[in-house]
Amino acid sequence: MRVLIVEDERHLADTVRRGLVNEGFVVDVAHDGVSGLSAASESSYDAILLDLMLPLMNGYDVLKELRQRRIWTPVLMLTAKDGEYDQTDAFDLGADDYLTKPFSFLVLVARIRALIRRGAPERPVVLILGTLSVDPVTRRVRRDGTDISLTAREYGLLHYLMRRHDEVVSKAEILDNVWDSAFEGGDNVVEVYIGYLRRKIDVPFGVRSLATVRGMGYQLSAGQISEPARAPRPHR
Ligand code: CA
Repeated sequence: MRVLIVEDERHLADTVRRGLVNEGFVVDVAHDGVSGLSAASESSYDAILLDLMLPLMNGYDVLKELRQRRIWTPVLMLTAKDGEYDQTDAFDLGADDYLTKPFSFLVLVARIRALIRRGAPERPVVLILGTLSVDPVTRRVRRDGTDISLTAREYGLLHYLMRRHDEVVSKAEILDNVWDSAFEGGDNVVEVYIGYLRRKIDVPFGVRSLATVRGMGYQLSAGQISEPARAPRPHR
C-alpha cells in the first residue's frame, strides 16, 4: 500500500512517515504543494495525506488540480481548526475524508485504512439525480440542461444532499456538514437555505425533489413533476 504525505511541517511529516512505515505502508513525502502535485500525478498511490496550508501551492489548489486531471486517488485532508478553509470546502473539492490537527496517529491509520478499503473507483465527474446534475469540479449545476446559479452556501448544501440522495438527512447533520463549527446561529438557517434551494432547483422547473420529512429532516430524490394543485408553499 503506497501512501503519499504532502506536509510542510517536517517533524510531523517524518513522524507520520515512520509510523506508517511501521504499519507496513510504502511512504513518499513531499514538503510543498507543487512537488506533492507532481508526485501524485506521476506515481500511483492508494491514498494521499494532504495538508491544507502548504508552501508554493496550497492543499486546496493541489486537490482541485488533481481532480481536474481526473486523478481520483482517495485524499485525506489535514486541516487546522482555525484554518481559512473548512471541511465543507475540502469535501466540495473532492476530498474523501478530513482530519483536524492535532490528530491521533491511531485515528489517522484507521482513516487511511478505511479510505483504501473504499478504494478509488473511476468516479463519474458529474453527480446526476433525475434531471439535476452537479459537477463538483466546475461547480456547474443544471436541471434539464438549464444552468442554475447558486451561492457558495447553497452549492455546499446541494452538494451535501446530492452525496446523500434519497436518505433523510437531519437539520443537525446538515448544520454540521455545511456550516463550519464556528457558526453560532440556530438550525433555522437550514430551513431558510432549503427554501432558497427549492426556489432555484425545483420551483422554476415544476419539480418536487427536495422534500421535508416532518420532524425528521430533508430528503433529496429524483423528484416528480409537481401537480398544479400542489403549488409551492408560501415563501418564508
Ligand atoms: Ca502546513
